[in-house]
Amino acid sequence: MGTPHLSGFAPIGILGGTFDPIHFGHLRLAQELADALGLARVRFIPTGTPPHRNSPQVSGAHRLQMVAVAIAGNPLFEADDREIRREGISYTYDTLTELREELGEGPLCLLMGADAFGALTTWHRWQDLFDLAHVVIAHRPGFRLQELQAALPAPLRKIYLQRLARVPGMPRANAGSILTREITALDISATHIRAMLARGSSPRYLAPDTVLEYIDHNQLYKDRDAR
Ligand code: ATP
Repeated sequence: MGTPHLSGFAPIGILGGTFDPIHFGHLRLAQELADALGLARVRFIPTGTPPHRNSPQVSGAHRLQMVAVAIAGNPLFEADDREIRREGISYTYDTLTELREELGEGPLCLLMGADAFGALTTWHRWQDLFDLAHVVIAHRPGFRLQELQAALPAPLRKIYLQRLARVPGMPRANAGSILTREITALDISATHIRAMLARGSSPRYLAPDTVLEYIDHNQLYKDRDAR
């Protein structure tokens, strides 16, 4: 159980991603931010049809199943299939609106790597996300937190400076702040893992064995054009 917030509810983390496939970079991010912020749980939400990047290489059902086998046994973690079930384009704004209704009071924390935050202005209703959740930005190799501010597009830099939490720990409000955290730097990407699999080399120790067994069993990522 996480630390109760002033609202009486422990904060909940949301980690969206294509998870194509899920790897240790995602899992450490979720674990370290959960520990640092006292999150009661972290929900992993694989994207359906992402509006602002290329389509995932494998189906939502496979990506969800890889998340499920990766997080099995960790009571802090849970998988959420709502975006892959949704028809059409899936927006984080809609997901957070639904979660806010379902979970009621208490802080929601949208977790992301610094690379994802840098692209936030391309997200549907990005400024309204702060009405629904805090945004927690984790360090990712190649995207240093110290250099983040300077690299942001002007409208996002303005919001970043306005909303950046000045005191450590979970903010008093249930949404609206930006928090940054250094985490263990793991230079792992799904792109790199897919490339290794496509050329027949082993991504062992970059992702859980259970995920790699699932990939092998279902013959995923062998063909670059496969869906
Ligand atoms: P791809 O290489 O296919 O673009 P990815 O490895 O970046 O995929 P995503 O599913 O797109 O993985 O990432 C989901 C979230 O996890 C994003 O917020 C991203 O910034 C974060 N993330 C992914 N890998 C890491 C990592 N190694 N360290 C920190 N954050 C990460």
